[in-house]
Amino acid sequence: MEEHVPLARYTTIGTGGPARWFARPETVEELHELLRWAEEHDVGVEVIGLGSNLLVHDDGVDALVLKLAGELAAAEVEGDTLVMGGGAANAVGLHRARSAGLGGFEFASAIPGTAGGGVRMNAGAYGREWRDVLIDAVVVDASGPRTLSVEELGLSYRHSNLAPGQVVARARFRLEPSSTDAVKEKAAELLAQRKETQPTNKRTFGSVFKNPDEGPGAGRMIEECGLKGHRIGGAIVSPRHANFIENADGATTADCIAVMAEARTRVHERFGVVLEHEVQFLGPLELPALGA
Ligand SMILES: Cc1cc2nc3c(=O)[nH]c(=O)nc-3n(C[C@H](O)[C@H](O)[C@H](O)COP(=O)(O)OP(=O)(O)OC[C@H]3O[C@@H](n4cnc5c(N)ncnc54)[C@H](O)[C@@H]3O)c2cc1C
Repeated sequence: MEEHVPLARYTTIGTGGPARWFARPETVEELHELLRWAEEHDVGVEVIGLGSNLLVHDDGVDALVLKLAGELAAAEVEGDTLVMGGGAANAVGLHRARSAGLGGFEFASAIPGTAGGGVRMNAGAYGREWRDVLIDAVVVDASGPRTLSVEELGLSYRHSNLAPGQVVARARFRLEPSSTDAVKEKAAELLAQRKETQPTNKRTFGSVFKNPDEGPGAGRMIEECGLKGHRIGGAIVSPRHANFIENADGATTADCIAVMAEARTRVHERFGVVLEHEVQFLGPLELPALGA
């Protein structure tokens, strides 16, 4: 276990302070041991995947932060099932599936996260989400590993029932036979669509806010408030897609929170809609109350 490890390099936005404790477990046993240590020492536990939907407090996180590695970050195919370690990148999963002639995971190729982060967020794109392909997941906490079904995981729009301290060590996905070329083509097509509308070549953390159940999407409302390009410190509302914040130049997490607060206030004033953040917070972060 290491101490005071800077986390900015583990997030796609590139902001945030250090983890009080940091470890990279490679097996379920190592993971379980670390979780037991944290429980015994009354230390909170956080997990980082590829940090692609994360904002870490600038002063850091007073917790044990885990980044899965080794077999917990590997992927393999068994029959028509893709088995991914919780820390395995979606791109690696897609690569394994494609090589084995399995389709159905292409939608995940443009989501720059891990299998475990995807379970936690019920990640999705282009009309498909984790719960459509997930069979089950091995979830570990201080009491040990358990296999949870999709129903038990309670996946809904960018939400799961996972409690703090529960870590997805493995996830199984049911895919269907396809040709390598078809998978390649589909993934390339989805990636191209994404590049047209999103700032894929900038440092961001993906969608800032969830889309409301009804009415215009979060990005559309923020854009209609005239906030595209709005900048605070080094953080800027993406001129390409208003539901993204870019790290334009040396942004801090506080800059990002300030931009989010401004967008949320303006959308509330204009549309009467209370936006809920999709990006996950590590450390004592919160948005100011509306009207405060
Ligand atoms: C350019 C860009 C485009 C994006 N497009 C999409 C999109 O189309 N659809 C979409 O859904 N998301 C999108 N995202 C957001 C992000 O990629 C997804 O939410 C992704 O699933 C997060 O995975 P991660 O492994 O990076 O998790 P992180 O961002 O590292 O963490 C997110 C949350 O998951 C938890 N977590 C991570 N790993 C585990 C684990 N093993 N066990 C338990 N909890 C865990 C973290 O503690 C945190 O609460 C995008 C992001 C970017 C930067």
